[in-house]
Amino acid sequence: MAKINGFIGRRNFIHLAGLGSIGIGAIVGAGGILWNKEPSLAEDLSNDVVERPKPVNPQAALNNLLAGNQRFVQGKSLHPRQSKFRLQETVAAQYPFAAILGCADSRVPAEIVFDQGLGDLFVVRVAGNVASGEAIGSLEYATSVLGAQLILVLGHTKCGAVKAAVEGKPLPGRIGVFVEEIKPAVEIARKKNGDLVENTVIANVQYQAEHLAQRSTILGNLIKQGKLKIVGGHYDLATGKVTMVS
Ligand SMILES: [Zn+2]
Repeated sequence: MAKINGFIGRRNFIHLAGLGSIGIGAIVGAGGILWNKEPSLAEDLSNDVVERPKPVNPQAALNNLLAGNQRFVQGKSLHPRQSKFRLQETVAAQYPFAAILGCADSRVPAEIVFDQGLGDLFVVRVAGNVASGEAIGSLEYATSVLGAQLILVLGHTKCGAVKAAVEGKPLPGRIGVFVEEIKPAVEIARKKNGDLVENTVIANVQYQAEHLAQRSTILGNLIKQGKLKIVGGHYDLATGKVTMVS
């Protein structure tokens, strides 16, 4: 079986997915997304070159996310790539165009707020969107193995984990583990005017994004090679809108 970088080639992928000669309608042009949501009957299978879809560059990936969020905010979600066909298309392999380190908060589900589908996003969610060892390992996999070239660290308004870090009270069980990870961001936010919790949400996004690059050699090297960008975002629970954090 033909494999490239340890992955099953596209032609074999088609066979494995039980799609025969239907084809998967890849769009690999500049700024294109991964696949059409519907199969293309015009797929040319005469070419024996087997390759994985071209990675989506960081800016195109970010544009896809922001366009999806705009649809969500406007009540015009398309719920793309959620068909039975897409289900089959993604059985054998995944090529997510972006990775997200988001909060586990039930009100911030990435695929919904960015209006994306199956196989589009590699999502790591942990309370307070902290760059824990497990989160970093997952994101190393998403980027170096699966080929995502964008990591979006996503915080949100009224984050309970951030609030707990600001309050600094003793916490039961292992709740304090992730809260501890947010405390450096609280100290950064204390130097600013305004609401301390909301300022910490922003500072925490920046702090965790920096930590991803600093704590991971793999991520750091991908950034140097121009194959990865890590950006920050802030989700507003009231409006559904994601604003970039610089
Ligand atoms: Zn949260």
